Amino acid sequence: MKKEFYKSVSFKLGILSFIILASLFISSFMFNSQIDKLKKQIDYIYFGNYIPVLKLHSIEENYNDLIKCMKTYKKCKRTPFFKSIKKDWDYYNNSYKDIEEKKVLRKIDKSVNNSFTYKTKISQYHKVVKEIEFLKEYEKKVASKKRKEFIKEYSSMKNYLFYNMIALITVSFIFISFIIYSIIKKDNQLKILTKKYAIESITDSMTKLYNRKYFDKIFDNMPFISNQNSWNTAFVMLDIDFFKQYNDTYGHDMGDMTLKAVASSLKSYFDKDYEYVFRLGGEEFGVILFDINEKILKECLKDVNENIQSLNIEHKNSKISNVVTISIGAVIYKPYSYVSCNKLYKIADECLYESKQNGRNQFTIYKEGN
Ligand code: GH3
Ligand code: MG
Ligand code: MG
Repeated sequence: MKKEFYKSVSFKLGILSFIILASLFISSFMFNSQIDKLKKQIDYIYFGNYIPVLKLHSIEENYNDLIKCMKTYKKCKRTPFFKSIKKDWDYYNNSYKDIEEKKVLRKIDKSVNNSFTYKTKISQYHKVVKEIEFLKEYEKKVASKKRKEFIKEYSSMKNYLFYNMIALITVSFIFISFIIYSIIKKDNQLKILTKKYAIESITDSMTKLYNRKYFDKIFDNMPFISNQNSWNTAFVMLDIDFFKQYNDTYGHDMGDMTLKAVASSLKSYFDKDYEYVFRLGGEEFGVILFDINEKILKECLKDVNENIQSLNIEHKNSKISNVVTISIGAVIYKPYSYVSCNKLYKIADECLYESKQNGRNQFTIYKEGN
């Protein structure tokens, strides 16, 4: 039972760890892809728009300087301007562009490349500058559009991550609660079973009194408990009279019923705390009464004899009565007297024997000095 329990707990814990690991793996993968997406967006805004606008600005300035140079010097050296414009233009041209941007760019690219000759007139440069200005405005518009898209996507991404986290936490919480619940449930079942088996292991199955095994345990500890609490404790032995004849007369089954009836009478009479009734074996019973005195014990044993008699179980072959009777022997252990359990048992047994000898259906309490 215990083995199965741990087996199922470790199995469930295994599943739980697997689920948590898998969820963490999936979520980290998801988060990673989202963050990648976010990075791409930022890259796009920064390199795709901000840097190109700067480059276009520098190209425009170079064209303006070239125009100024041409206006000032008849033999203006254009090559350094061409080199610098071409370098910036190539950089701009090679940066990331979507299809729409490429379309817009194609025509202007032609104008820019055609401008790198000494034949190009100032008016043509003015035209290119205008086109570059247009391109700058266009890039700014694209940037603002992309920014709006980015902000929109960023907030939906945030929501996506947030709800994913909530879902993940909820699923983990449900699984953990379920496993804890089933462990507690199993544990309770186990406790109930252990309790049941513990009770069963100390109970005589026929009479439902404490069994001999439990008697040995309590009886062995009886002197110690009495010493610790300064209690007088009685040990009582009881034996049904002429029970062999009863069985012979009424049969074994009736004998069993009588045993149960006597046991039940003893159990209901000695039902307080510190009162223990045992079946010692056969038709013999034992009672341990903690914290008692001789006067009360006498009254109790007198009651027991009367109670059994008043059960009124017919016993026509008893030599002393026409109903079932019981004989009793008892001894009182005084605290710190250190009489051994063996001795106490022997004394009680001798008292019982005395009751039998004196005519049965009576009790004998051991008197010191006898
Ligand atoms: P005494 O008055 O001297 O005690 O005589 P007795 O016949 O009671 O004593 P004895 O020890 O000779 O016989 C006890 C009988 O108890 C014998 C046995 O058949 C019967 N007995 C013991 N255990 C059980 C049981 O569980 N069920 C039944 N029906 N009888 C039992
Ligand atoms: Mg007997
Ligand atoms: Mg007997």
